[in-house]
Amino acid sequence: MRAAVFFERDGVLARSAINGGTAKRLEEFQVLEDASAPLRQLKDAGFFLFATTNQPGVTSGLPSRRELDLMHAVLVRRLGLHEVLVCPHPLEDACPCRKPSPELLREAARRHGVDLDHSFVVSDRWVDAEMAEAAGATSVLIRSKHNGNGHHDCVVSDLQSAVEKILEIARDVGTLRAMSAQKR
Ligand SMILES: [Zn+2]
Repeated sequence: MRAAVFFERDGVLARSAINGGTAKRLEEFQVLEDASAPLRQLKDAGFFLFATTNQPGVTSGLPSRRELDLMHAVLVRRLGLHEVLVCPHPLEDACPCRKPSPELLREAARRHGVDLDHSFVVSDRWVDAEMAEAAGATSVLIRSKHNGNGHHDCVVSDLQSAVEKILEIARDVGTLRAMSAQKR
């Protein structure tokens, strides 16, 4: 089984161009190109790469499913992701997949054979740290005002430091070795 790194989409891999809110249209969706080199390092080490996002506006068409799929196609192509995992449900639906529920991670694990115990979640938001804990993965928080006071495994200053932390932990616990043996 391969381990994965799950990234929060907004603020970590992409930025919306208007008001810091979530992008409603493809033109407002901006991939953070600085994410490309750090993600490449993880991919080369053997990790699956996923983005995760809550998009409660999809049900009411903001963004439309089509615009959202276009944005995610760009994200996948530019950053070499495996897939973008989406909860498209509004809060009032009380669906099982909205973060901090670990359901998006479990679904990826089922479909791709991801080893969640040796996987990581990278985000600047507390919901993702909580999701990581519920899924049995390790949380790496990028310092921000959205960190909250809940559980997290480590805090770093930026995405590059998050990647270095992940590679260090994965080396120590033998995950890198296990994944490189599988590749052969
Ligand atoms: Zn959902």
